[in-house]
Amino acid sequence: MPVPCLKPLLLATLLTVQSVQAAAPCADFALRLPNVKRELCEAARLQPTAARSVQGRTLWMRDIKPEQPTVRVLVLGAIHGDEPSSAAVAFHWVRLAAQLPVGSVQAVHWRFVPVLNPDGLFSAPPRRVNSHGVDLNRNFSTPNWEREARLYWEKRTRKDPRRWPGNRPLSEPESRFVHEQMRDFKPQLIVSIHAPYGVLDFDGPTVPPKRLGSLYLQQVGIYPGSLGNYGGVHSGVPVVTIELPNATRTPRDAEIGEMWLDLLRWMGARLAVTPAGMAQPGYFDSRLVPAAPTAR
Ligand SMILES: [Zn+2]
Repeated sequence: MPVPCLKPLLLATLLTVQSVQAAAPCADFALRLPNVKRELCEAARLQPTAARSVQGRTLWMRDIKPEQPTVRVLVLGAIHGDEPSSAAVAFHWVRLAAQLPVGSVQAVHWRFVPVLNPDGLFSAPPRRVNSHGVDLNRNFSTPNWEREARLYWEKRTRKDPRRWPGNRPLSEPESRFVHEQMRDFKPQLIVSIHAPYGVLDFDGPTVPPKRLGSLYLQQVGIYPGSLGNYGGVHSGVPVVTIELPNATRTPRDAEIGEMWLDLLRWMGARLAVTPAGMAQPGYFDSRLVPAAPTAR
């Protein structure tokens, strides 16, 4: 009996899996993320990007853009796949950003990527690293990465497999996607959500927020290859790193709202632009003028 060719069948199955995943991420997200009902995810109206994870999962994003934006902000969740609460908070913030009354606040072009590491999130159990075992938050091309990232991993983490920086900077499609966003979208602020250390960290050229909700500023230093180091220290893009207090449980909805309002207040004080509006090329807009030191 002739052996049937399995290639078309495999291809059809693969395409079906991909199209189902591309059409309906919310069923999966609602199952995996705490405090994210399917309705909240669907209301976020995520759009597929062209980027895929190592395993071929779509990286989804949502843009919320006023007619004449003056500030661009990139919000990232779940760079580490075992921190699902970070993705959940990003979904809640999409809802809040979409509700902002026109004209009452800064004209912010928001770009949300709630789940940057879907392979880590959907592995069983969820993993910090991506499918290649790389800690994406150590894979950005900071100066002397080749020497320092490896040295740090060997000496300081004692070869912790959860913190493997990869073989070379930007070796991973997920970190390359962030790099491309920085190159093309040119955010003037990056908010990167993590857990579970319960603090606020900051890297960059302006005055950091003292607190967001009940999280207080505690700058913990910089790591070779981290996004804060790459964006805030070396590319001139302020990076607010939020460490939620719990990786698998979100803060209460009221607290998520307080953090959001504190972020907006800080942005209003620290990311003010001149009436001339928003500059174009370059990571850092020199017209982002610091407010008076007494302001929050
Ligand atoms: Zn993390």
